[in-house]
Amino acid sequence: MSGPVLSSRNPVRALLPLVGNTPLLEIHIDLDGQRKRVFAKYESLNLTGSIKDRIAIQILAQAYESGALEDGYEIVEATSGNTGIAFAAVGRALGHPVRIYMPDWLSQERFQILDALGVKIERVSKEQGGFLGAIEMAFQRTQHELNCFCPRQFSNEANVDAHDWGTGREILSQLASIGLRPWAFVAGVGTGGTVMGVARAFKRFDERVQVHPLEPSNSPTLTEGHKVGSHRIQGISDEFIPEIVKLDELDHILSVDDGDSILMAQKLSRSLGLAVGISSGANFLGALQLLADLPPEAVVVTVFPDSNKKYLSTDLVGNEPDKDGFWTSRCQPLHYRALPRPAAELQEALLS
Ligand code: PMP
Repeated sequence: MSGPVLSSRNPVRALLPLVGNTPLLEIHIDLDGQRKRVFAKYESLNLTGSIKDRIAIQILAQAYESGALEDGYEIVEATSGNTGIAFAAVGRALGHPVRIYMPDWLSQERFQILDALGVKIERVSKEQGGFLGAIEMAFQRTQHELNCFCPRQFSNEANVDAHDWGTGREILSQLASIGLRPWAFVAGVGTGGTVMGVARAFKRFDERVQVHPLEPSNSPTLTEGHKVGSHRIQGISDEFIPEIVKLDELDHILSVDDGDSILMAQKLSRSLGLAVGISSGANFLGALQLLADLPPEAVVVTVFPDSNKKYLSTDLVGNEPDKDGFWTSRCQPLHYRALPRPAAELQEALLS
């Protein structure tokens, strides 16, 4: 299966080399005294520094093709941050005004970055409905204003396509280049685009590959079906199960503590210089949980969605207490190598 073919007039073509095709890290670790390894896509190398650039490119490319988006239309989206930043940069690059509805409790850096990208920011308080309120407000605007395009990341299948044709296929190609195939994949669920798209690519390749969604144990939205508790892993586990998430197509849900995720992100940064964000720490812990029951040669893959740069005002830079049952203290990262970016032919498939 190949990706969509973009017409020669699709303006998104000009930006394709800036997004996706990221290196895959092979990280060697000591876990409970055994040598193992975790593979992780290094997504902070995308245009705006996160995995969400992939969906901005894919959704806008498909919208131009279908005619849902035309020159000069306002792009209106509700987001917890990275998606907004991605649509802002890509939208501005293509000459579109961008309006972002965002819960007002997210990190200050996110608001400052959006402001710097010339975006109209609509802050939505808990009293105004929080995340669900933001989604409703974005939708209402597109109902009442002409010449608006709403990407609807939580229900748009192009989000899944971005990770099926992009992230998932890239990982398969990078592993194959060193004679490996994936055993399992894990990713924290925000929109669920990453885990659903990679699941499709991996299970098409080999239906035995296990693909696990991950959530914070402090706020297990996937398990409960609705928001309970609160957590500090920005970008995952919002307040509901997104429409594109099909839990019956996935393997069992993994859960990690948010404090443990912070400690793991700090450890990756201090021991290997991989200055990743909190959800990367969470994803890494999910990979450790899988590896604990697998032999040393197991190939467990995850993603590092972004870097620490948007969390410098959060607990990621604080003194997080270690607690009983945490995984971080059981793992010592040893060294890593970056597998080269996959062949450009994957991107060229979009252009041909
Ligand atoms: N981590 C971070 C930092 C994110 O911004 C997101 C996207 N919301 C995710 C993880 C989850 O990715 P997805 O939306 O594909 O489930």
